Amino acid sequence: MEKRDKLDLFADTKSLELWAEDMVPAEAIDCTRCELYKHGGRIIWGEGNPQAAIVVLLDNPGARENKLGEPFVCGSRKTLYDAVSKVGLDENDIYLTFVLRCRPRRKYDKDLSRSTCIKFLHNHLLNKKPKIIFCLGNISAQWYLNNPAVTIKELRGKIHSHENILTAFSYHPLAVRRRPVLLQLFIQDWNLVADFYRTQLDDFSSKQ
Ligand code: SF4
Repeated sequence: MEKRDKLDLFADTKSLELWAEDMVPAEAIDCTRCELYKHGGRIIWGEGNPQAAIVVLLDNPGARENKLGEPFVCGSRKTLYDAVSKVGLDENDIYLTFVLRCRPRRKYDKDLSRSTCIKFLHNHLLNKKPKIIFCLGNISAQWYLNNPAVTIKELRGKIHSHENILTAFSYHPLAVRRRPVLLQLFIQDWNLVADFYRTQLDDFSSKQ
């Protein structure tokens, strides 16, 4: 994919196409394991390529539809898509998934819901064996590492290893939108992952 020169955080999102949504597996389709099933949303299991070597982990999904039920790319998703494109990757290279697969709409017991739903991620990692996990935002980093004290600020900028899976970290796309000063670091981290993917994982094709 051709690299873009510029990443405009606030450009119109109407022309962007949503990445393909992964099907919710049968065992989770009517999930009531945590209270978020009562919030009136739906499960968004994952997006992109379920076989991809790179798994991107966010705290929870944004809406994929507007109030009229039409496809909708929210600002955070746009920033993510733009960064992926800018470093020469596309949705075939990435599987995007979440600590929480349902989007919270009101107050909830965060620790209980996150500790419940993240078990689905553990199953995904066991079954699909991605080569690198890229955690975006403090919540995904803390829950992936099972350490509430870590921060993106201290983790970002290099490749780590956690439970035998290579792991990288960067800011949440929403944080980047709110603090554009983080954009350069966000792109640096995406380049780190993309370069690593190309040079170290060239024996692994996520497009097989
Ligand atoms: S957030 Fe996860 S555990 Fe909770 S209801 Fe949704 S899919 Fe189930």
